Amino acid sequence: MSMKKWQQILSNTITDVETLSKHIKIDKKRMKRVGRKYAIGINPYYLSLIRKHGGPIWKQCIPDTLEVIDEIGRRDPLMEDKYTPIKGIVHRYRDRVLLVVSNMCAGYCRFCTRKRKIGLKDKTVKKEKFKKALNYIKRHKYVRDVIISGGDPLLIYDDMIEHYLRELRKIKHVQIIRIDSRTPCVLPQRITPKLCGIFKKYHPIYFNTHFNHYYEITKESRKACEMLADAGVVMGNQTVLMRGVNDDAKTLKRLFEELLTMRVRPYYLYLPDAVKGTYHFRVSIRRALKIMKQLIGHTSGLAIPHFIVDLKHGGGKTPLLPNYIIKHIGKRYVFKNFEGKKFFYADVE
Ligand SMILES: *Cc1c(COP(=O)(O)O)cnc(C)c1O
Ligand code: SF4
Repeated sequence: MSMKKWQQILSNTITDVETLSKHIKIDKKRMKRVGRKYAIGINPYYLSLIRKHGGPIWKQCIPDTLEVIDEIGRRDPLMEDKYTPIKGIVHRYRDRVLLVVSNMCAGYCRFCTRKRKIGLKDKTVKKEKFKKALNYIKRHKYVRDVIISGGDPLLIYDDMIEHYLRELRKIKHVQIIRIDSRTPCVLPQRITPKLCGIFKKYHPIYFNTHFNHYYEITKESRKACEMLADAGVVMGNQTVLMRGVNDDAKTLKRLFEELLTMRVRPYYLYLPDAVKGTYHFRVSIRRALKIMKQLIGHTSGLAIPHFIVDLKHGGGKTPLLPNYIIKHIGKRYVFKNFEGKKFFYADVE
């Protein structure tokens, strides 16, 4: 069988400092220190999106020496390892599980929450391990929602994906199957008519992709998202709020509004997790809330994702919201609206 276009692009992924230095100007010696600790992976498609040195695309994919001097972050702040009852399953919330099927990605994001696990060595879940994970889901009848995740789950082959979907669909209590993949953004060529045809057979399929900047919205990525939407897949997007990448209201507003034009609904905006090697991306809560305030009411609710902090020590996803109630005495409330004007509200019993 001949190589598909996406496989060809992937096979040209830059994974070492020497090759990278042929494409862009970098300090090789310092960069190699980073490469020894964390996986490097920049495919030619994503590389082509870089507009300037140190810009938002650059920061997401080019290793930074700041990664190896982070003393504050933890390897696994969400304690996912603790919530792993068996290989391939992360079970943190009662009614839904992550099914981790691959530790490979179409590019290695410098800010990744699973930095400790991804890349380096292929640990794709093989059929045998999948069987055990499947049995776990079968035994836990209150699991209503299975999120196929990674790494990137779409780096595995179509027949394997179909095998997973087919088996999961045989379980009566699994209502929802979700795919968590960054490929529509970093390798949109992966979304083929054949793949869409597979999804179509196993609905309801929800899909969360991962765009962080409107520079990532291209002709190719638009086509990928539209093909998925045409196949009846419900599309959502998760964004990580990152310093120097997208930490201003103007950039986010444009990103969220453009996502809607390709039928992708902004779902979550995350405060970066306290993951070792990612300190330089972090944004303070104060600043993040200020940005949210500049969005809420200034664009449609459709374009506003839930704003989330995933609390350390496995505390879980917790909503963050700007405060609009400035005072309340008994049942009398004072609101400050999105334009900063005061409004009174008399509450009921
Ligand atoms: C984020 C996450 C989920 C899904 O959470 P939703 O709020 O339903 O999107 C499930 N399990 C784990 C471990 C997660 O981190
Ligand atoms: S695609 Fe997702 S899992 Fe893979 S490196 Fe990027 S953020 Fe991490």
